[in-house]
Amino acid sequence: MAEDVFEIAEKDGAGRIGKLRTAHGVVETPTLVPVINPHVPVVSTDDLKKVGFEIFITNAYLLFKDEKLREYVLEKGIHYALNWDRAIMTDSGAYQLMIYGDVEISNLEVIDFQSKIGVDVGVILDVPIYKGSKTYRKKFIDETIRRAEEAYNAGYVSSDSETIWVGPIHGVPFTELLEYSVEQMTRFPFGMYAVGSIVPLMESYQLIQLVKSAVVVKDKLPSRYPVHLFGAGHPSTFALFVLLGFDTFDSAAYALYAKDNRYLSPYGTYNLSNMQYFPCECPVCSKYTPRELMEMEYMERQHLLALHNLYVSMAEVKRIKQAIHEGNLWQLVAERTGSHSEIARAYRWLLNHKNEKAYRFFEVFEPRFKRRGLMITRMEEFNLPLIRRFKESIFDRAYIWSDVAIISTPEGANELHKLLGAQVFIIHPVFGIIPREIRSVYPLFQHMSYYNRLTKKRLSLARKFVQFLSEQGVKEFYVYDSDRDFAKKIGDFLGISETYTGQDVGILTKQESHLIIAKSLLRYQYGPGAENIVNSVNIEYSMATGRIRKIHALDVTDEEVNHVVIPEINRHAEKKRKQGMPIPQDPLQEWFFDKGNKWLLAAVIPTYFKLIPHPLMAYRFWKMFREKELRYMAIVNEEAEEFVRQGKSIFSKFIVDVDNRIRANDEIFILNENKELIAIAKAKIGAREMKEFRRGVAAENRWGFR
Ligand SMILES: [Zn+2]
Repeated sequence: MAEDVFEIAEKDGAGRIGKLRTAHGVVETPTLVPVINPHVPVVSTDDLKKVGFEIFITNAYLLFKDEKLREYVLEKGIHYALNWDRAIMTDSGAYQLMIYGDVEISNLEVIDFQSKIGVDVGVILDVPIYKGSKTYRKKFIDETIRRAEEAYNAGYVSSDSETIWVGPIHGVPFTELLEYSVEQMTRFPFGMYAVGSIVPLMESYQLIQLVKSAVVVKDKLPSRYPVHLFGAGHPSTFALFVLLGFDTFDSAAYALYAKDNRYLSPYGTYNLSNMQYFPCECPVCSKYTPRELMEMEYMERQHLLALHNLYVSMAEVKRIKQAIHEGNLWQLVAERTGSHSEIARAYRWLLNHKNEKAYRFFEVFEPRFKRRGLMITRMEEFNLPLIRRFKESIFDRAYIWSDVAIISTPEGANELHKLLGAQVFIIHPVFGIIPREIRSVYPLFQHMSYYNRLTKKRLSLARKFVQFLSEQGVKEFYVYDSDRDFAKKIGDFLGISETYTGQDVGILTKQESHLIIAKSLLRYQYGPGAENIVNSVNIEYSMATGRIRKIHALDVTDEEVNHVVIPEINRHAEKKRKQGMPIPQDPLQEWFFDKGNKWLLAAVIPTYFKLIPHPLMAYRFWKMFREKELRYMAIVNEEAEEFVRQGKSIFSKFIVDVDNRIRANDEIFILNENKELIAIAKAKIGAREMKEFRRGVAAENRWGFR
């Protein structure tokens, strides 16, 4: 069991809500793993349970060194001895090795001990390194690798061990060393990996080094592994760690800070003696005032402070999970930048427009659609991965249908006639340039920005785009804003001399306009060529909101009637029959021919403007691309085919090939190994994860083709 113990439930950025399967139950991640000192626990395991923790970490070496304790845990098992029926993680003594330079235990001894006392997540005796040249450090990394090999050869680290063994990755902050460490450690069947040797960085708050290293490690390591961070510190850093893709992180900060009368909050640390009020609603803070706590005797105060510190840590973990669920983890990290300059520095580094490496890393994991829109409250956020992704893809994915273009301000675009025969492109301070037909698609509409000025810097993409349009054959250009002087100024910068003042550019018929909208949405969501699957459509708008609801095809062929319409009608009729509802004598006649040979292609989700393909669209799409490429498609093996056809979820372990363009929340097509279309599905994870994970759902089935 120990090799594939992790699956993704939800994701945002490189962060994920996951399930870690241990011998003592499932641990939901991300989570803080509080450090418990077996000799002087500041809080009890009952306290941990009350706060809501599902796992803690203690030190196997300390248990081993204490003879009485050692005998006791060996006899009773660690769960009984520490009064805890959930997951337990142990560290091996590497930290003591760093502090004292030597530990009186060998690698195999400490591994054997952890295994015998029944820990759920154990660590080999790795060698942390903090100083020295690369060559010097590499020797220590090689020693850790040697010990991993030793544990593997002795049969402890194996794909069916009860214990989840952690492979520690060292080499921070050197890219080469980190990559080497990942390469070597992944030769062994560890269930989990961890980044170590970071305590001095954390103590001196050199977060930026850790963040840079995390990008290297997470990029190199297959995404299916849960990744632990050894020695995380303050709760204000948790959101950043999770955004980077750490699933678990241990910290003793709650206890260490309590010893010094320090009170944690996600925004920073307070000194209890300076406190007049508790900005917290936990049981401790609801019951006592700072003064009352100050007046208590030391041990009791320390206990209560530690307890509060755990409550705020847990609250932060929940806040992070909620942010992942809603898709605004970046925003939560942005909020945390206010608590420490080093978090701000790390955050800026991640979103620096020149930082290609970080962008490439995040782009792969970043979902395409999120529950929440973007909130832009600072300059860095103009480089959020979703925004960069849009700017990168728009040249390819804009559907250009007219040789006359009107470049308009956002306000101007609302004033221009909806059926204008010229194509309207909106210059935009955040996204650069937006074809009017797709302006409601996520996140173009679903965002708010503190900065809305159309400065030259903000218009530079639009200038490139105008150039691009003329290369694509657009012959006439106009600029539009109701303020003509402003329009002229923009035109000067974009290289367009004409302003639009109502010149005759023709008017589209409704029919033409519907087709253009459908083609624009298709090309934007599925890339160049996808627009060619429609030739004649009708768009259905919501009576209440005026928004697009459905796209129907008006040119259904006989072949499509046989392959799609009739099977869909049969299924629909079958469903109605089961519900005891009446069915027409001739359903095909009534449901198709009598309605003007019109058939549903796709529905549109109003909040995102995302197309949800229906069978006819899937069929056309598949026919167009199946021979050429795997466009937004995933192939499942024979074993899964029948289940998928029946409408069951698509699991990662059955996926044999997948289009690299797929990101979480994309609408995709599932094929069998003969490349026949077998389902329409909603991706839950991205292409990379679909390839790398062996557990959990890759996509939710929307429609199985029987
Ligand atoms: Zn509190």
